[in-house]
Amino acid sequence: MISYYDKLVQNIEKKDILINEPMSKHTSFKVGGNADYFIFVRNISDLKYVLKVSKEYNIETFIIGNGTNILVKDKGFRGAIIKLLMDKITFDDNKIIAEAGASLILLSNKVSKSGFTGFEGLSGIPGSVGGAVRMNAGAFGNEIKDVLIETRYLDENLEEHTINNKEHNFEYRKSIFSTNKYIILESSFKLEKGDIDQIENKIKENYTKRTTSQPLDKPSAGSTFKRGEDFITAKLIDDAGLKGYRIGGAEISTKHAGFIINNNNATADDIIKLIKYTKDVIKEKFGKVIQTEIIIIGE
Ligand SMILES: Cc1cc2nc3c(=O)[nH]c(=O)nc-3n(C[C@H](O)[C@H](O)[C@H](O)COP(=O)(O)OP(=O)(O)OC[C@H]3O[C@@H](n4cnc5c(N)ncnc54)[C@H](O)[C@@H]3O)c2cc1C
Repeated sequence: MISYYDKLVQNIEKKDILINEPMSKHTSFKVGGNADYFIFVRNISDLKYVLKVSKEYNIETFIIGNGTNILVKDKGFRGAIIKLLMDKITFDDNKIIAEAGASLILLSNKVSKSGFTGFEGLSGIPGSVGGAVRMNAGAFGNEIKDVLIETRYLDENLEEHTINNKEHNFEYRKSIFSTNKYIILESSFKLEKGDIDQIENKIKENYTKRTTSQPLDKPSAGSTFKRGEDFITAKLIDDAGLKGYRIGGAEISTKHAGFIINNNNATADDIIKLIKYTKDVIKEKFGKVIQTEIIIIGE
């Protein structure tokens, strides 16, 4: 039997298959050990091929978008991390269709500049469309679930399906894709006419809020923790006096207590220890259990 790599290169270009690839290069936290394989896929048939071969060779796979909500552990990922390069965005009557690898910022800009409303809050979220749908990303009063019409995805048997908004089972930072290994291929979004001046002002206002309240000059994965049902997690962390608390190179941002930042060559282990420490302090001081929003993978 030929090797996994040799089988892959029968259909995938060599330049699209990276071996022992540092995940610090592909995540906004800029930490993480090597993935055994890091594979770029340029179309659905390549994606199906990589998934089929990986299954045949018993190689674990993981889909990554822009890597802005992921923490990869220091020993890396045993298996293949797959990044979708499909990123077409097309207007179609009263909707816009975006492939999963498209940038959410680019999509939001296209929608807003054309005078449609609903994406003003999404315009500063640095993920891909696939990552945003999986996470039901949102900010400043807008959430993916409010603008999404339907999603086409691939199931584990490599069959394609389309589901409507309701079938996504959207909840806060959660969707049907949080609990399975389906791969989002593309989603369509509704276009609702708005007032262009109001849209632009809202985007500017959100941009100012983001840049003044978030530590965007340091690597992070955005908010590390989920909002609580009856409390604001960042406020509890601030009230506990944890702003600026450090473990190794990881720090609870002094600008926004909800962000753990990679302040100085942090390891994934530093960040994981700081997450645990924060959870323990909040439980002890306020009796509240806080949940991690970011997704931790690898070993
Ligand atoms: C500075 C900063 C600010 C942020 N601000 C916000 C904010 O305001 N609001 C917010 O909600 N988030 C925010 N985030 C977090 C992050 O940008 C979002 O969660 C985003 O939606 C993640 O998209 P991604 O493409 O980077 O996903 P990744 O981090 O690559 O992946 C996240 C999850 O989605 C899955 N996934 C990715 N693509 C697919 C696909 N095609 N099919 C199936 N699953 C897929 C991955 O397997 C993983 O489980 C911020 C992050 C940073 C760094």
